[in-house]
Amino acid sequence: MAEHGPIFGAMLQEFDGAARILNLDLGIWRILTHPKRQIVVSCPVQMDNGEIEVFTGYRVQYNITLGPAKGGLRYHPDVSLDEVTALAAWMTWKCAIAQIPFGGGKGGIICDPTRMSKRELEALTRRYVAEIVDAIGPEKDVPAPDVNTNAQIMAWFMDTYSMHVGHTSTAVVTGKPVEMGGSLGRQEATGRGVMIVTREAAKHLGIDIAGATVAVQGFGNVGSVSAAQLSQVGARVVAVTDYKGGVYNAKGLDIAALQQWATEHRTVDGFPGGEPLAGEAIFGLDVDILVPAALENQITDENAGQVRAKILTEGANGPTTPEAHRIMHANGVFVIPDILANSGGVTTSYFEWVQDRHGYFWEEAEVNAKLEQKMCAAFTAVLKTAVKYGVDMRTAAYIVAIDRVGTVTKMRGMYA
Ligand code: NAD
Repeated sequence: MAEHGPIFGAMLQEFDGAARILNLDLGIWRILTHPKRQIVVSCPVQMDNGEIEVFTGYRVQYNITLGPAKGGLRYHPDVSLDEVTALAAWMTWKCAIAQIPFGGGKGGIICDPTRMSKRELEALTRRYVAEIVDAIGPEKDVPAPDVNTNAQIMAWFMDTYSMHVGHTSTAVVTGKPVEMGGSLGRQEATGRGVMIVTREAAKHLGIDIAGATVAVQGFGNVGSVSAAQLSQVGARVVAVTDYKGGVYNAKGLDIAALQQWATEHRTVDGFPGGEPLAGEAIFGLDVDILVPAALENQITDENAGQVRAKILTEGANGPTTPEAHRIMHANGVFVIPDILANSGGVTTSYFEWVQDRHGYFWEEAEVNAKLEQKMCAAFTAVLKTAVKYGVDMRTAAYIVAIDRVGTVTKMRGMYA
C-alpha cells in the first residue's frame, strides 16, 4: 500500500516489531503488509422521505492464504478504508492465532444506523450485498456482525446472496439467527472468549479470579457478555461505561439487571443500581481487570499512564495505540491483545460455517466446550512465545500469526 492512514499504520508498527524478531524474509514481509483486495462501492438507497441517498461501502480481503476471508461488517459514521483495512489485517492474524482455516477480511458502510429506519437498513444491506456479490461466498469471503450490525442484518445478507446465486446458501455469513443456520453460542462467543483468556491470565499471574474487580468500557455485544461471563466466574464487575455515560458500584453491579436496563434505555447511563460514572473515568479506576470493549484508539499516550489494572483484556479491536501499549507494558500491566482476546467470536463463527456446510448442528454445550479448548490453546501458544522470546503478549501474538501465515505463504509459493 503506497499510502495508509493512522489505524493501518498502528497495525504496521505492531507487525514490524514482531517481524523483526522473527527475522522474517523480506518478500514475505512485503506480501503480508499489503491488502490483497480493497473493494469500494456506492450504495444508493431510497430513504423513507422519498429522497435517494448514496452510501459508501467497503470490503477488504486482506489475506486469503489460510482460507476464505473472514471478518465482520460495521455500520458507523466514522468507517474509513484505513479502518476497514486495519481491521481486515487484524482478522488475518486473529484467525491464524485461533488456528482456524480462514484468511482476514472486513467490511464497513459509512452511515449512522441510529438515524435510519429498519426498512432503510434492510435496503442498504441488500444493495451493499448486491454490489459485492461476486467477491463473497462460503469459499471466498464470509462476513459476520460487528459494530451496529446484528443477526437480522446477517439474515438479510444471507437472503440477498442466496437470491443472487439461485439457492439457499447459509454459509455465506455467520452470526445468523439460530433458526436459519446460526450456531448456538455464537452470540455470546466473543464475551465468553474474553472471560476464558482473562481467567487464564489471572491463573498465570497468581490472581484469584473469584473476587477480582473488573471495569468494562462498552456494553454492547462484547462488553455486556464479557461482564456477565466474568461475574459468572466470581469476578466483581464494579464499573461499566458506554457512549453516553456510565455506572459504578464498589460492591459489584447486578449485570442481569444492567442488561435489562440497557435493553430498555439503549444505554447503561442512569442505571439505578450504582453511582453515575463519567465515560473517561473508566481507565483510571483501581481495579484488577480492565476490559475495553467499545471502539479503537480509546487508550492513548494521554490516558495509558492512569491505568492501574493488572490485566487489560482487549475485547474491542485496536482499543490501545502502540504508544499506550508501551506505557502500560512498562508499568507492568499484562495486556491480552485483541487478536487473541476477542478471537472467541470468529472461532465460533468458524464452528457455524462448519455446521452450515455439514448441514448438521451441534448442542450449545459442544460449541462452548470446543471454544474453551481453542481459546486455551491459543492463549498457551501466545504465552509460550512471549516467554520464549522475552516479549509482551501482543508481540508474541503477532509472532505466532506471522509465523503461521508466512510459513504457508512460502509453502504455496509464488504464482506468476
Ligand atoms: P456493539 O455495537 O454491540 O457495542 C459497542 C458498545 O460500545 C456500545 O455499548 C456503545 O455504547 C459503546 N461505545 C461506543 N462508543 C463509545 C465511547 N466513545 N465510549 C464508550 N463506549 C462507547 O459492538 P460490539 O459487537 O460489542 O463490538 C465492540 C468491539 O468489539 C468492536 O471493536 C468490535 O470490532 C469488537 N469485536 C466484536 C466482535 C463481535 O463478535 N461482536 C468480535 C470481535 C471483536
